[in-house]
Order: sequence, then structure tokens, then C-alpha cells
Amino acid sequence: MPQGEFITRFAPSPTGHLHLGHAASAFCVWGFAHAAGGRVLLRMEDIDQTRCKPEYEASILEDLTWLGLEWSGPIRRQSEHFEDYEACLETLRERGLIYRCFKTRREIAEILDAEPESEMTAYIGAQLPASEEAERLERGDAFAWRLSLSAARDTLGSAYDDLSYTEFGPDGLHGVKADPAPFGDVVLGRKETPTSYHLACCHDDALQGITHIIRGEDIREMTSVHTLLQALMEWPQPLYHFHPLIMGPDGKKLSKRFGDRGLRAWREDGKTPTDIRAMTGLS
Ligand code: GLU
Repeated sequence: MPQGEFITRFAPSPTGHLHLGHAASAFCVWGFAHAAGGRVLLRMEDIDQTRCKPEYEASILEDLTWLGLEWSGPIRRQSEHFEDYEACLETLRERGLIYRCFKTRREIAEILDAEPESEMTAYIGAQLPASEEAERLERGDAFAWRLSLSAARDTLGSAYDDLSYTEFGPDGLHGVKADPAPFGDVVLGRKETPTSYHLACCHDDALQGITHIIRGEDIREMTSVHTLLQALMEWPQPLYHFHPLIMGPDGKKLSKRFGDRGLRAWREDGKTPTDIRAMTGLS
């Protein structure tokens, strides 16, 4: 295990009750923190105000407490800090790193479908000419703020090709080359919401002084995008650990296997936190 300060976080989105997959992830986060004598901060990634609900946050807190997982300090709710993310977007805009993209999801899907030969799996767009953009804004059209991969490359120069992050685990540290290109021009904000998961997450990791991030294998690839954002914003880079997703005996993700069966339902069935730990395959 790495020496020195260890501050990690558990960052659920309160869009439902915690299920076994979340419990496995939480045990892993607290397990590493405990082994390193570190701290776990709790962050509610609740920028999607249509899907996130206070009752789900209350349920998450209750479940973590029931599992015996204690967090340090106040909870950070992203929905209370939109102005922080807006300021980041403004900085990126002033530096010519983001642009307004007026394409709808459907239009983008059509563009990508029309290029079956291309390896491109993500959208790469371009800033509209000023007059056309002004016209679309005047019309009140919806848009997304996208990070321009080409502007990011120009800004970082050779550092772009050297982007990497460090993975930590029981076997020590090792460097991993980052490749943000397959994600194209990622969305960092929208007309109505001045942030996206990528921006709010990286901003908060920097602000909260997170030294170690423990997350599921399913977010491994996106870490390349986060590495790029950290380089552009000169945010410190935490170390990363990716835990395997817990699969049921049928090879399906636990969250899928049991639908959205929450921990509270298991609790009502008489399961104990020890049972839950065993059900996630951890002893
Ligand atoms: N809110 C994300 C999740 O629940 C956080 C993951 C992360 O950034 O590590 O999957």
C-alpha cells in the first residue's frame, strides 16, 4: 500500500436505493481506507436533478450507517455547488477549450451510423461560425458544452501524448497510458446544467484533496477523460484502483441480477451486514 496521506471518497448518485453492487464498492473503498489509516469522504453526485431525490440520499445514509461504514466530515452535494462548475466551464471557454454543440443525441447517432468504416466511437464536432451560433442561441436551441479534443491537444502539446495515470493495489503502483481520444469531444455541461459527471467529479476530487480513487472496472476507461481534464485544469492527479464488478453465479452484474433490489429489502428479509458482505463475495 502507498504511504502517506490517504483520502478517498464514496460518491453515489442518489437515483435509487443502494444495492449489492454498491455495497461491494463501498466495502472496497472503506477497506482500502481502513488498511491505510485513511479517511473516506461522502459525496452525493446529484447533478441530475430530475433523477436524484432527497429520499434516496436519506436511504443511502441509512444503509451506510447500517453497514457500519462511517464517513469523515460534511457530505458534499454537487447540486449545491453549480456555481463552482460554472466557473470551471467559464475558464475552459475563455481558453477556447470548449464549444457549444447544438446537435441532438439523435443527430449525433446518425452521424456516427453514417461512418461504419470509421473507428470513431464518439462524436467530434466543431464550433459553429459566430453568426450561426448567435442565431441558434437567439432561437433558444438547446446545446451541450463539449471539450474540443483538438484544442486540448494543441494546448497540451507533447504532454497530451504522455497522458497517464497511476494505478494502486495490493501489488503496488503501476503507470497506465491514458487515451481520451475514443471518447471524442465529451460533454462537460449543458445549456440548463453547467456541468457533467466528468467535470463535477474531477473538480470535486481536486477540491476535496482526494489522494486515492477506488471505483468499479466499468469506469476504468473514462479515467482517461479525467486524466485529460486534470492536465488541462492543472488539478492534482489521485491514484486509482479499479475493483472488479461483483457478478452473480449466472455471470451477470449483481445489480442486474437482482434488479434494483435494495439493501433495505435484504435487511427486511433479516439479513445482517455480515450476510451482505458475504453476499458480495467479500469475507
Ligand atoms: N457517481 C459515480 C457512480 O456512482 C461515481 C463513480 C466515480 O467517479 O468513481 O458510479
